[in-house]
Amino acid sequence: MFIKFWGVRGSVPSGNPETARVGGNTTCVEIRCEEELIIIDTGTGFRNLGAALMKELPVKGTILFSHVHWDHIQGFPFFTPFFIPGNEFRVFGGTSLPMPIEEVLSKQMTPPCFPVKTDLFGSKISYQDVKPDEVIEGKNYKITLAPLYHPNGCYAYRIDHEDQSLVFATDCEHYEDKPNKNLIDLSRDADVLVYDSQYTEDEYYGLNGEFSRKGWGHSTMREGLKVAEAANVEKFVLFHHDPTHNDDSIGKIEAEARQLFSKSIAAYEGLQIDLSEKELPPSLFD
Ligand SMILES: [Zn+2]
Ligand SMILES: [Zn+2]
Repeated sequence: MFIKFWGVRGSVPSGNPETARVGGNTTCVEIRCEEELIIIDTGTGFRNLGAALMKELPVKGTILFSHVHWDHIQGFPFFTPFFIPGNEFRVFGGTSLPMPIEEVLSKQMTPPCFPVKTDLFGSKISYQDVKPDEVIEGKNYKITLAPLYHPNGCYAYRIDHEDQSLVFATDCEHYEDKPNKNLIDLSRDADVLVYDSQYTEDEYYGLNGEFSRKGWGHSTMREGLKVAEAANVEKFVLFHHDPTHNDDSIGKIEAEARQLFSKSIAAYEGLQIDLSEKELPPSLFD
């Protein structure tokens, strides 16, 4: 199994010269279990993934939504393979949604906010809402999920393929008085944990003249490492970088993470992790 990162930024795209090395696109990751394709979230990075997939038509894939905040759905209308007949996708989502995932996604594509409706999609797309205790089966993989602490809800996903496992936990806050046991259980003995490391400790707790970000639904690298250690995870990926964090500040957070947990890496656009490899690929900052 491998994972490739197409969008690693949180909250809003951040395409500035100072963020160009890590990348400014919002959440989208591609996962391959041999020939099987799984995509998590359709932030602005989803557009570039779509362009790459145009070289391997027809495309068949499974798309999972952690949740439907803007930074996780904004690339959805710009995915060229959706417009091509012969492609097939199954879409899963459903955390605390007041309406089915299909309706949420089609509503964002309606005038006056967007001119193109989903009925122009030529590919076959099926939509399914999933509950936390459900299991999504694939040809050679199994997906389980757990709810996270986040405004309007969010799911973490675990993908198991043969003896390899990956947990993707974006957009999750931590609470000292109620550790997310569901996430620790979901991450048990996983090869890789991708975790919402949006804030520094100073930012989160409002230290050093900062205002507090408590209750905003995001976490820190140190809190992610607590989950990784409690769950005996092998490798840790810092993800959902704050739009105000430039390349240098992300490099600094990654260096701190490596002192605490050597197999850590900050996600960047284009990073590819092969789960059959013992070591992580080189960091941007090595
Ligand atoms: Zn987000
Ligand atoms: Zn969110």
